Amino acid sequence: MLVVMQAQATEEQVRAVCQKIEALGYRAHSMPGAQRTAIGITGNKGEVESGTLEEMPGVQEVIKVSKPYKLVSRDTKPDNTVITFPRANGASVSIGGPDLAIIAGPCGIEGREQAFTIAERVARAGAQFFRGGAYKPRTSPYSFQGLGEEGLRIMAEVRERFGLLIVTEAVDYESLDLVDQYADVIQIGARNMQNFSLLKRAGRAHKPVLLKRGISATLEEFLMAAEYIMSEGNYNIVLCERGVRTFADHTRNTLDLSIVPAVQRLSHLPIIVDPSHGTGKRNKVTPLSRAAVAVGADGLIVEVHHDPDRALSDGMQSLFPDQFDALMVQVRQIAAVLGRSIPVSTPVHSGAILED
Ligand code: PEP
Ligand code: MN
Repeated sequence: MLVVMQAQATEEQVRAVCQKIEALGYRAHSMPGAQRTAIGITGNKGEVESGTLEEMPGVQEVIKVSKPYKLVSRDTKPDNTVITFPRANGASVSIGGPDLAIIAGPCGIEGREQAFTIAERVARAGAQFFRGGAYKPRTSPYSFQGLGEEGLRIMAEVRERFGLLIVTEAVDYESLDLVDQYADVIQIGARNMQNFSLLKRAGRAHKPVLLKRGISATLEEFLMAAEYIMSEGNYNIVLCERGVRTFADHTRNTLDLSIVPAVQRLSHLPIIVDPSHGTGKRNKVTPLSRAAVAVGADGLIVEVHHDPDRALSDGMQSLFPDQFDALMVQVRQIAAVLGRSIPVSTPVHSGAILED
Protein backbone atom coordinates (compact mmCIF):
# COMPACT_ATOMS: atom_id res chain seq x y z
CA MET A 1 0.00 0.00 0.00
CA LEU A 2 1.07 3.51 -0.71
CA VAL A 3 -0.30 6.69 0.82
CA VAL A 4 0.09 9.57 -1.61
CA MET A 5 0.03 12.94 0.16
CA GLN A 6 -1.32 16.10 -1.42
CA ALA A 7 1.31 18.42 -2.92
CA GLN A 8 0.58 21.02 -0.24
CA ALA A 9 0.52 18.54 2.69
CA THR A 10 2.46 19.81 5.71
CA GLU A 11 5.25 17.99 7.52
CA GLU A 12 2.98 17.50 10.53
CA GLN A 13 0.36 15.85 8.32
CA VAL A 14 3.00 13.49 6.89
CA ARG A 15 4.21 12.72 10.41
CA ALA A 16 0.68 12.06 11.63
CA VAL A 17 0.05 9.58 8.82
CA CYS A 18 3.35 7.80 9.58
CA GLN A 19 2.42 7.58 13.26
CA LYS A 20 -0.99 6.17 12.39
CA ILE A 21 0.59 3.51 10.16
CA GLU A 22 3.02 2.53 12.95
CA ALA A 23 0.17 2.49 15.48
CA LEU A 24 -1.63 0.02 13.22
CA GLY A 25 1.44 -2.25 13.60
CA TYR A 26 3.06 -1.62 10.19
CA ARG A 27 6.18 0.21 9.11
CA ALA A 28 5.97 3.61 7.40
CA HIS A 29 8.56 4.75 4.84
CA SER A 30 8.22 8.40 3.99
CA MET A 31 9.57 9.21 0.51
CA PRO A 32 9.64 12.93 -0.19
CA GLY A 33 9.60 13.84 -3.88
CA ALA A 34 9.71 17.00 -5.95
CA GLN A 35 5.89 17.06 -6.41
CA ARG A 36 4.61 15.21 -3.36
CA THR A 37 5.49 12.85 -0.55
CA ALA A 38 4.47 9.21 -0.72
CA ILE A 39 4.47 6.92 2.29
CA GLY A 40 5.15 3.25 1.66
CA ILE A 41 3.61 0.73 4.06
CA THR A 42 5.45 -2.53 4.75
CA GLY A 43 5.08 -5.27 7.33
CA ASN A 44 1.46 -5.98 6.44
CA LYS A 45 0.51 -9.59 5.77
CA GLY A 46 -2.60 -8.77 3.78
CA GLU A 47 -4.33 -5.68 2.59
CA VAL A 48 -4.27 -2.64 4.89
CA GLU A 49 -7.68 -1.17 5.76
CA SER A 50 -7.27 2.05 3.80
CA GLY A 51 -10.37 3.91 5.08
CA THR A 52 -8.84 5.46 8.19
CA LEU A 53 -5.76 6.67 6.30
CA GLU A 54 -7.77 8.06 3.40
CA GLU A 55 -9.69 10.32 5.75
CA MET A 56 -6.61 11.87 7.34
CA PRO A 57 -5.74 15.52 6.59
CA GLY A 58 -3.26 15.98 3.74
CA VAL A 59 -3.89 12.55 2.18
CA GLN A 60 -4.65 12.53 -1.53
CA GLU A 61 -5.15 8.82 -2.08
CA VAL A 62 -4.27 5.38 -0.80
CA ILE A 63 -3.26 3.02 -3.58
CA LYS A 64 -2.55 -0.67 -3.75
CA VAL A 65 0.90 -1.46 -5.15
CA SER A 66 0.52 -4.46 -7.38
CA LYS A 67 4.23 -5.02 -8.06
CA PRO A 68 6.10 -7.22 -5.57
CA TYR A 69 8.62 -4.43 -4.97
CA LYS A 70 7.18 -1.31 -3.45
CA LEU A 71 9.75 1.06 -1.99
CA VAL A 72 12.22 0.78 -4.87
CA SER A 73 9.44 1.36 -7.39
CA ARG A 74 8.90 4.57 -9.34
CA ASP A 75 5.24 4.32 -8.35
CA THR A 76 6.35 5.17 -4.82
CA LYS A 77 8.93 7.77 -5.78
CA PRO A 78 8.74 9.20 -9.30
CA ASP A 79 11.95 11.26 -8.98
CA ASN A 80 15.39 9.70 -9.35
CA THR A 81 17.21 8.95 -6.12
CA VAL A 82 20.40 11.00 -5.90
CA ILE A 83 22.87 9.97 -3.21
CA THR A 84 25.08 12.83 -2.09
CA PHE A 85 28.39 12.55 -0.28
CA PRO A 86 29.47 15.83 1.29
CA ARG A 87 33.23 16.43 0.98
CA ALA A 88 35.49 18.22 3.42
CA ASN A 89 36.18 21.14 1.06
CA GLY A 90 32.50 22.05 0.89
CA ALA A 91 31.98 20.37 -2.49
CA SER A 92 29.98 17.20 -2.87
CA VAL A 93 30.00 14.06 -4.95
CA SER A 94 26.79 12.35 -5.99
CA ILE A 95 25.46 9.19 -7.60
CA GLY A 96 22.28 9.36 -9.64
CA GLY A 97 22.38 13.06 -10.56
CA PRO A 98 23.70 14.60 -13.79
CA ASP A 99 27.32 13.80 -12.87
CA LEU A 100 28.53 10.27 -13.61
CA ALA A 101 30.04 8.41 -10.67
CA ILE A 102 33.39 6.83 -11.50
CA ILE A 103 34.64 4.14 -9.14
CA ALA A 104 38.05 2.67 -9.92
CA GLY A 105 40.77 0.67 -8.24
CA PRO A 106 42.14 -2.82 -7.88
CA CYS A 107 40.07 -5.94 -7.40
CA GLY A 108 41.72 -6.54 -4.04
CA ILE A 109 43.80 -4.42 -1.67
CA GLU A 110 47.19 -6.15 -1.62
CA GLY A 111 49.16 -3.65 0.43
CA ARG A 112 49.64 0.05 1.13
CA GLU A 113 52.05 0.71 -1.70
CA GLN A 114 49.85 -1.06 -4.27
CA ALA A 115 46.74 0.80 -3.11
CA PHE A 116 48.46 4.20 -3.05
CA THR A 117 50.05 3.74 -6.47
CA ILE A 118 46.72 2.92 -8.08
CA ALA A 119 44.74 5.49 -6.10
CA GLU A 120 47.05 8.27 -7.18
CA ARG A 121 46.49 7.40 -10.84
CA VAL A 122 42.72 6.93 -10.73
CA ALA A 123 42.26 10.15 -8.73
CA ARG A 124 44.31 12.05 -11.27
CA ALA A 125 42.23 10.60 -14.12
CA GLY A 126 39.01 11.83 -12.49
CA ALA A 127 37.60 8.95 -10.43
CA GLN A 128 35.71 10.18 -7.36
CA PHE A 129 35.61 6.76 -5.67
CA PHE A 130 38.29 4.16 -4.96
CA ARG A 131 37.32 0.49 -5.02
CA GLY A 132 39.24 -2.46 -3.58
CA GLY A 133 38.26 -5.61 -1.76
CA ALA A 134 39.46 -6.31 1.76
CA TYR A 135 37.21 -9.39 1.87
CA LYS A 136 37.30 -11.28 -1.41
CA PRO A 137 34.66 -13.87 -2.30
CA ARG A 138 36.83 -16.30 -4.31
CA THR A 139 35.81 -19.43 -6.16
CA SER A 140 38.74 -21.33 -4.62
CA PRO A 141 39.43 -21.35 -0.87
CA TYR A 142 43.15 -21.39 -1.74
CA SER A 143 43.02 -18.09 -3.65
CA PHE A 144 43.85 -14.73 -2.01
CA GLN A 145 41.01 -13.96 0.39
CA GLY A 146 41.86 -10.30 1.07
CA LEU A 147 43.69 -8.50 3.87
CA GLY A 148 40.61 -8.07 6.07
CA GLU A 149 40.61 -5.13 8.47
CA GLU A 150 44.16 -4.22 7.47
CA GLY A 151 42.82 -3.67 3.93
CA LEU A 152 40.08 -1.42 5.30
CA ARG A 153 42.65 0.63 7.21
CA ILE A 154 44.67 1.09 4.02
CA MET A 155 41.54 2.28 2.22
CA ALA A 156 40.81 4.79 4.97
CA GLU A 157 44.34 6.14 4.43
CA VAL A 158 43.64 6.37 0.70
CA ARG A 159 40.61 8.53 1.46
CA GLU A 160 42.69 10.82 3.63
CA ARG A 161 45.53 11.11 1.18
CA PHE A 162 43.71 11.35 -2.15
CA GLY A 163 40.24 12.60 -1.22
CA LEU A 164 38.65 9.54 -2.82
CA LEU A 165 35.49 8.02 -1.37
CA ILE A 166 35.83 4.35 -0.48
CA VAL A 167 33.76 1.47 -1.90
CA THR A 168 34.47 -2.01 -0.53
CA GLU A 169 32.68 -5.31 -0.18
CA ALA A 170 31.17 -6.91 2.89
CA VAL A 171 30.74 -10.68 2.70
CA ASP A 172 29.11 -11.46 6.04
CA TYR A 173 27.77 -9.85 9.24
CA GLU A 174 31.18 -9.35 10.79
CA SER A 175 32.74 -7.72 7.75
CA LEU A 176 29.62 -5.63 7.16
CA ASP A 177 29.95 -3.97 10.55
CA LEU A 178 33.62 -3.20 9.87
CA VAL A 179 32.99 -1.98 6.32
CA ASP A 180 30.20 0.24 7.68
CA GLN A 181 32.77 1.87 9.99
CA TYR A 182 35.58 2.36 7.48
CA ALA A 183 33.99 2.81 4.06
CA ASP A 184 31.75 5.36 2.35
CA VAL A 185 29.80 2.75 0.37
CA ILE A 186 29.15 -0.88 1.34
CA GLN A 187 29.35 -3.23 -1.63
CA ILE A 188 27.21 -6.38 -1.61
CA GLY A 189 28.64 -8.74 -4.21
CA ALA A 190 26.90 -10.78 -6.88
CA ARG A 191 27.23 -14.00 -4.86
CA ASN A 192 25.43 -12.41 -1.92
CA MET A 193 22.63 -10.73 -3.85
CA GLN A 194 20.16 -13.21 -2.41
CA ASN A 195 21.75 -13.55 1.01
CA PHE A 196 18.62 -12.14 2.57
CA SER A 197 19.87 -11.89 6.12
CA LEU A 198 22.94 -9.96 4.92
CA LEU A 199 20.69 -7.68 2.84
CA LYS A 200 18.56 -6.94 5.90
CA ARG A 201 21.67 -6.19 7.91
CA ALA A 202 22.84 -3.82 5.15
CA GLY A 203 19.43 -2.20 5.43
CA ARG A 204 20.27 -1.30 9.02
CA ALA A 205 23.75 0.01 8.20
CA HIS A 206 24.60 3.71 8.12
CA LYS A 207 26.26 3.91 4.72
CA PRO A 208 24.85 3.66 1.19
CA VAL A 209 24.88 0.20 -0.37
CA LEU A 210 26.19 -0.77 -3.81
CA LEU A 211 24.21 -3.88 -4.72
CA LYS A 212 25.59 -6.02 -7.53
CA ARG A 213 23.31 -8.10 -9.68
CA GLY A 214 23.37 -11.81 -8.89
CA ILE A 215 25.10 -14.14 -11.32
CA SER A 216 21.79 -15.33 -12.77
CA ALA A 217 19.32 -12.86 -11.29
CA THR A 218 16.32 -11.60 -13.22
CA LEU A 219 15.41 -7.94 -13.11
CA GLU A 220 12.65 -8.67 -10.62
CA GLU A 221 14.95 -10.66 -8.33
CA PHE A 222 17.48 -7.82 -8.49
CA LEU A 223 14.88 -5.23 -7.51
CA MET A 224 13.52 -7.48 -4.77
CA ALA A 225 17.04 -7.73 -3.30
CA ALA A 226 17.15 -3.92 -3.18
CA GLU A 227 13.69 -3.98 -1.61
CA TYR A 228 15.09 -6.14 1.23
CA ILE A 229 17.66 -3.44 2.00
CA MET A 230 15.20 -0.59 1.71
CA SER A 231 12.51 -2.27 3.79
CA GLU A 232 14.89 -2.04 6.76
CA GLY A 233 15.21 1.72 6.36
CA ASN A 234 18.33 2.24 4.22
CA TYR A 235 17.11 4.21 1.19
CA ASN A 236 20.54 4.87 -0.29
CA ILE A 237 21.10 2.03 -2.72
CA VAL A 238 23.01 1.95 -6.00
CA LEU A 239 22.33 -0.98 -8.33
CA CYS A 240 25.18 -2.43 -10.38
CA GLU A 241 25.01 -4.54 -13.52
CA ARG A 242 28.05 -6.83 -13.59
CA GLY A 243 27.13 -9.44 -16.17
CA VAL A 244 25.23 -12.69 -15.91
CA ARG A 245 26.17 -16.29 -16.65
CA THR A 246 25.23 -17.43 -20.15
CA PHE A 247 26.44 -20.03 -22.67
CA ALA A 248 28.86 -17.49 -24.14
CA ASP A 249 32.48 -18.26 -23.41
CA HIS A 250 34.23 -15.41 -25.21
CA THR A 251 33.69 -13.36 -22.06
CA ARG A 252 33.64 -14.25 -18.36
CA ASN A 253 30.03 -13.04 -18.06
CA THR A 254 27.56 -11.49 -20.48
CA LEU A 255 27.15 -7.81 -19.69
CA ASP A 256 23.44 -7.09 -19.92
CA LEU A 257 23.34 -3.41 -20.74
CA SER A 258 19.65 -3.56 -21.57
CA ILE A 259 18.94 -3.80 -17.87
CA VAL A 260 19.97 -0.14 -17.45
CA PRO A 261 16.94 1.40 -19.20
CA ALA A 262 14.77 -1.43 -17.85
CA VAL A 263 15.70 -0.55 -14.26
CA GLN A 264 15.31 3.17 -14.93
CA ARG A 265 11.78 2.61 -16.12
CA LEU A 266 10.72 0.65 -13.03
CA SER A 267 12.83 2.09 -10.23
CA HIS A 268 14.06 5.44 -8.97
CA LEU A 269 17.40 3.95 -7.88
CA PRO A 270 20.66 4.80 -9.68
CA ILE A 271 22.28 2.03 -11.71
CA ILE A 272 25.95 1.78 -12.61
CA VAL A 273 27.84 -0.77 -14.73
CA ASP A 274 30.87 -2.96 -13.98
CA PRO A 275 32.50 -3.74 -17.36
CA SER A 276 35.43 -5.49 -15.61
CA HIS A 277 33.54 -8.45 -14.13
CA GLY A 278 31.02 -8.07 -16.94
CA THR A 279 33.59 -9.10 -19.53
CA GLY A 280 36.56 -10.54 -17.62
CA LYS A 281 38.89 -9.38 -20.41
CA ARG A 282 40.99 -6.24 -20.34
CA ASN A 283 40.54 -5.56 -24.05
CA LYS A 284 36.75 -5.42 -23.69
CA VAL A 285 36.55 -3.14 -20.67
CA THR A 286 36.92 0.17 -22.50
CA PRO A 287 34.45 -0.60 -25.32
CA LEU A 288 31.83 -1.77 -22.83
CA SER A 289 32.47 1.27 -20.61
CA ARG A 290 31.71 3.49 -23.57
CA ALA A 291 28.53 1.52 -24.26
CA ALA A 292 27.46 1.65 -20.61
CA VAL A 293 27.69 5.43 -20.51
CA ALA A 294 25.91 5.66 -23.88
CA VAL A 295 23.04 3.49 -22.64
CA GLY A 296 22.48 5.86 -19.74
CA ALA A 297 24.23 4.29 -16.76
CA ASP A 298 24.79 6.57 -13.77
CA GLY A 299 28.41 5.54 -13.45
CA LEU A 300 31.08 2.88 -13.86
CA ILE A 301 33.05 0.65 -11.53
CA VAL A 302 36.30 -0.37 -13.17
CA GLU A 303 39.23 -2.49 -12.00
CA VAL A 304 42.64 -0.86 -12.47
CA HIS A 305 46.05 -2.27 -11.48
CA HIS A 306 49.54 -0.88 -12.07
CA ASP A 307 51.00 -4.40 -12.39
CA PRO A 308 48.10 -6.64 -13.43
CA ASP A 309 50.31 -9.62 -14.31
CA ARG A 310 51.19 -9.84 -10.64
CA ALA A 311 47.76 -8.92 -9.25
CA LEU A 312 46.51 -11.32 -6.58
CA SER A 313 43.04 -11.33 -8.15
CA ASP A 314 41.43 -10.41 -11.48
CA GLY A 315 44.60 -9.19 -13.19
CA MET A 316 43.25 -10.35 -16.58
CA GLN A 317 40.43 -7.83 -16.48
CA SER A 318 42.31 -4.97 -14.81
CA LEU A 319 43.21 -1.95 -16.92
CA PHE A 320 46.67 -0.43 -16.81
CA PRO A 321 46.48 3.13 -15.45
CA ASP A 322 47.25 4.56 -18.91
CA GLN A 323 44.33 2.65 -20.34
CA PHE A 324 42.11 4.04 -17.62
CA ASP A 325 43.24 7.56 -18.54
CA ALA A 326 42.17 6.91 -22.15
CA LEU A 327 38.86 5.43 -21.03
CA MET A 328 38.10 8.58 -19.03
CA VAL A 329 38.82 10.84 -21.99
CA GLN A 330 36.40 8.82 -24.12
CA VAL A 331 33.57 8.47 -21.62
CA ARG A 332 33.67 12.20 -20.84
CA GLN A 333 32.85 12.86 -24.48
CA ILE A 334 30.06 10.31 -24.58
CA ALA A 335 28.61 11.66 -21.32
CA ALA A 336 28.46 15.14 -22.86
CA VAL A 337 26.23 13.86 -25.68
CA LEU A 338 23.72 12.83 -23.01
CA GLY A 339 23.98 16.11 -21.14
CA ARG A 340 25.95 14.48 -18.34
CA SER A 341 29.44 15.12 -17.11
CA ILE A 342 32.29 13.85 -15.00
CA PRO A 343 33.61 16.52 -12.65
CA VAL A 344 37.22 17.47 -13.24
CA SER A 345 39.36 16.08 -10.46
CA THR A 346 41.45 18.20 -8.15
CA PRO A 347 43.99 15.71 -6.85
CA VAL A 348 44.87 16.19 -3.22
CA HIS A 349 48.46 15.17 -3.95
CA SER A 350 50.45 14.56 -7.07
CA GLY A 351 53.95 13.42 -7.83
CA ALA A 352 55.93 11.19 -5.48
CA ILE A 353 53.72 10.07 -2.65
CA LEU A 354 55.18 6.90 -1.24
CA GLU A 355 58.15 8.17 0.76
CA ASP A 356 56.44 8.85 4.09
C1 PEP B 1 34.30 -7.35 -7.14
O1 PEP B 1 33.75 -6.27 -7.38
O2 PEP B 1 35.51 -7.46 -6.91
C2 PEP B 1 33.49 -8.59 -7.20
C3 PEP B 1 33.87 -9.69 -6.58
O3 PEP B 1 32.39 -8.44 -7.94
P1 PEP B 1 31.13 -9.44 -8.19
O4 PEP B 1 30.47 -9.60 -6.85
O5 PEP B 1 30.32 -8.69 -9.18
O6 PEP B 1 31.69 -10.73 -8.74
MN1 MN C 1 37.37 -8.47 -9.07
